[in-house]
Amino acid sequence: MNPIVRFAPSPTGLLHVGNARVALLNRLFARATGGVFILRLDDTDLERSRAEYAESIQDDLRWLGLSWDRLERQSARLDAYAAAAGRLKASGRLYACYETPDELELRRKVQLGRGLPPVYDRAALKLAPDDIARYEAEGRKPHWRFKLGHDEVRWDDCVRGPSHYHGANLSDPVLIRGDGSFLYTLPSVVDDIEFGVTHVIRGEDHVTNTAPQIQLFQALGAVPPAFAHLPLLTGAGGEGLSKRLGSGSLRDLRATGIHPMALNSLLAKLGTSDAIDIRHTLAELEAEFAWDKFGRGTPKFDEAELERLDARLMHTASFAEVRDRLGLDGVDEEFWLAVRGNLNHLAEAEQWWAVCRQILAPVIEDGDFTAAAAALLPPEPWDHATWGAWTEAVKQATGRKGKALFHPLRLALTGRENGPELKTLLPLVGHDRARARLLGETA
Ligand code: GLU
Repeated sequence: MNPIVRFAPSPTGLLHVGNARVALLNRLFARATGGVFILRLDDTDLERSRAEYAESIQDDLRWLGLSWDRLERQSARLDAYAAAAGRLKASGRLYACYETPDELELRRKVQLGRGLPPVYDRAALKLAPDDIARYEAEGRKPHWRFKLGHDEVRWDDCVRGPSHYHGANLSDPVLIRGDGSFLYTLPSVVDDIEFGVTHVIRGEDHVTNTAPQIQLFQALGAVPPAFAHLPLLTGAGGEGLSKRLGSGSLRDLRATGIHPMALNSLLAKLGTSDAIDIRHTLAELEAEFAWDKFGRGTPKFDEAELERLDARLMHTASFAEVRDRLGLDGVDEEFWLAVRGNLNHLAEAEQWWAVCRQILAPVIEDGDFTAAAAALLPPEPWDHATWGAWTEAVKQATGRKGKALFHPLRLALTGRENGPELKTLLPLVGHDRARARLLGETA
C-alpha cells in the first residue's frame, strides 16, 4: 500500500520554518515512497482562520516547490464530523458536559491542592436527568467529551520509537465546544480515516494528542495510522519559533532573496544524522530520506547557516536555476558562469552585470600605463585565452609584472579591487568598453 500523508496547517498565521520543515518532510516521505501528499487546511476555527493566511500558506509551499496532490479544507467537511460525532454519541463514547470554565478551573485547583493529577473527573457522566433538565432550562449548552478507554495506548513512533500513554492519566478530551464548533481532534481523525492517511507526520507538540486520537480511530472502527513526531525547531539561541509572531516566517525569508533549495536543504537535514550540505533538487533529498536518520535532540535553526548554504548553492547553481530570480534584462549564461563563484548574495550579480554589460566609471591609478595597455588590446573575437595573451604583451612592453601589472588593469576595467577572474570577465566586457575604460572614459 502506498503511503498517504498530509500537511495540516491551520490558516491562523503565516508559515514559519518549523511548519515548512513538517511540510517538506511529509512531501519527501511521500515522494520517496511513491505516496500521496495532501494539503489539508484545518480551518474549523472560524474566528481565527483567514483566507489570506490560507493563500500565503499555499504561496509559501509553491515557492518551496512542495506541490500537493490534493487540497482539502476542513470547513467544507463539517457534515462528516457531525456524522462521526453522532456515531460516537450512539456508542456512548461522546458525552455531554455542562460545567462552566470557572467550575472546571476550581475543580482543577482542588485536585492540585490535594496532590492529585488535574484529570477531568467525569462528573458529567453521573448527572441525573433532573440535573440535565435544570441546566438545559438555564440555557446552558453542553460541550462534548470523548470517553477515553482507561488502558495503555501503544504506538511505534517513526521518530521516537516505542511510545505509550495510559488513558487514565488523561482528561477525556473535549471534541465539540458549547457553541457546537469542533475542536481540532475529531475533524483531524475523521479526515485521516476518510482520506486513508497512513502516516501522520507532525511536530512533537502533538505527542500528547496521539493516544486520544488512536482511541478515536478505534472508536470509529478504523485502524490507526503510523505516527512520526518531530522534535520542534528552536531558534539559534534555543528560543521557540512562533508562527503568529511571524518570527522566522517564510514570507520574511523569501524577501531576503534566498533560494528555496537552500532552505529545503537545511530543513531536510536538521535533526538528522546526515551532514548539512546543499542539494539542488528535491529529488536528491527524497533519495536520502529515511526515518532512522532522525534523532530526538532539539534541532536549531540558524539563519547564518542558511545564508552559508545559500551562498554555496549560488556558487554551483546552473543558469536555468537562477535566471528568473536575477531580474537582469538580457542576462546570459556566460555572464552567470563567470560571476557566480564570487557572489555572497544573488543581488550582488547586479554590480557585475554593470561591469560586463553597462556603463561604469573606471578607476585609473596610472593613466600612462593603462593607455599603453589599451593600445595592445587584440582585436575580437575574444575568449578565455585573451586575458593571458594580452597581459603577457603588456608585461613585455612595460616591464611590469605581478600586482603592478594586474591591479591597475582590474581597477580600470571593473572599477573594483576584487572580483571574478578577469580571464572570464574580459570577453564579457568586450573590446570597445575595455579600451574606453583603460583610457579613463566612463563606458
Ligand atoms: N492543524 C494542526 C496543527 O497545525 C495539525 C496537527 C496534525 O498534523 O495532526 O498543529
